[in-house]
Amino acid sequence: KTTSKPPPLPSPLRFSKFYQSNMRILVTGGAGFIGSHLVDKLMENEKNEVIVADNYFTGSKDNLRKWIGHPRFELIRHDVTQPLLVEVDQIYHLACPASPIFYKYNPVKTIKTNVIGTLNMLGLAKRVGARILLTSTSEVYGDPLIHPQPETYWGNVNPIGVRSCYDEGKRVAETLMFDYHRQHGIEIRIARIFNTYGPRMNIDDGRVVSNFIAQALRGEPLTVQKPGTQTRSFCYVSDMVDGLIRLMEGEHTGPINIGNPGEFTMVELAETVKELNKPDVEINMVENTPDDPRQRKPDITKAKELLGWEPKVKLRDGLPLMEEDFRLRLGISEE
Ligand code: NAD
Ligand code: UDP
Ligand code: UDP
Repeated sequence: KTTSKPPPLPSPLRFSKFYQSNMRILVTGGAGFIGSHLVDKLMENEKNEVIVADNYFTGSKDNLRKWIGHPRFELIRHDVTQPLLVEVDQIYHLACPASPIFYKYNPVKTIKTNVIGTLNMLGLAKRVGARILLTSTSEVYGDPLIHPQPETYWGNVNPIGVRSCYDEGKRVAETLMFDYHRQHGIEIRIARIFNTYGPRMNIDDGRVVSNFIAQALRGEPLTVQKPGTQTRSFCYVSDMVDGLIRLMEGEHTGPINIGNPGEFTMVELAETVKELNKPDVEINMVENTPDDPRQRKPDITKAKELLGWEPKVKLRDGLPLMEEDFRLRLGISEE
């Protein structure tokens, strides 16, 4: 006696893809700074339906207000440390606080978000056959001993320090991504994002560019953390979003660095903000926090070669765009 297996049922997802070539995209952390700009860009394409899952820890509905009620848009209050059941074709997994003051506020929760949150999104990707992109970070290089940092560098990270919940959390998230890829054949993409800035950053987010601009507009001294010679390389958010979408749509798993190689010391950054913004504002040298990386600059050879991507907006052009947004939100008019 032979028992024949029933034919596999077509999933509604594949069905919609076949007949309408629509793309349903989940963006975790989509109410945050980078996430909301990414949603704006994805929504421009009429074939995309976007679902945002966010717990509003550092993000806000306000960042998405123009999409709320749109027929191709859905917003879910959801914490990624809990399982999520949705049917999607792609997952941009951004959910995780990114500013040191917020990720250090509840470090255990930061680890859970990175590890359990990423595991859940991978489980989801596996169940529905979706491609998943993780926004990892230049922090995986720690306090780098190689400069600029290529993707082949394994990093110099303190496993027990106050930043570890974030650095090591993202490192495990990358490991999980590759293990699901090798073990379950999941299509993965990993972006290593370098410091990004632009409109919609939380005004009191604590990161350096938002601090300096808010301080300059309020006429308060710019707080440069000692020694002030430490460097960062700042990428404007529209360039970042363009890089993330190219990575998702391309053929390469990564990890790929996405960032702007223009490198500045924190004193140089303060002086640039001062010059563009408020020439009479003071610069105060203040105490730094432990394990602050001394230098950081992306090697973007891979992004250029594999994604045809490079940043277009220079710091001097991006800062005024951010200042304009901060002025509006702080209610400070131009003098
Ligand atoms: P953000 O804090 O503005 O956004 C993070 C979003 O994730 C927020 O909306 C927050 O509410 C949400 N979130 C946090 N924990 C969550 C949870 N457990 N469940 C659901 N939602 C949760 O930060 P951002 O600058 O937009 O960063 C986005 C991503 O990019 C993060 O993964 C971050 O690690 C990465 N990244 C950012 C930078 C940068 O310079 N901005 C640099 C490197 C990496
Ligand atoms: N998961 C999820 N949504 C799904 C499928 C899975 O959130 O649609 C979660 C699930 O709860 C689990 C994790 O993803 O905790 C990993 O799932 P996987 O199937 O890989 O592992 P298992 O459930 O076998 O531990
Ligand atoms: N920093 C500073 N003044 C501030 C906030 C930060 O000088 O008000 C410095 C900080 O010491 C670090 C750099 O700016 O060297 C970038 O810090 P941020 O928190 O923006 O991001 P990180 O790259 O450390 O994640």
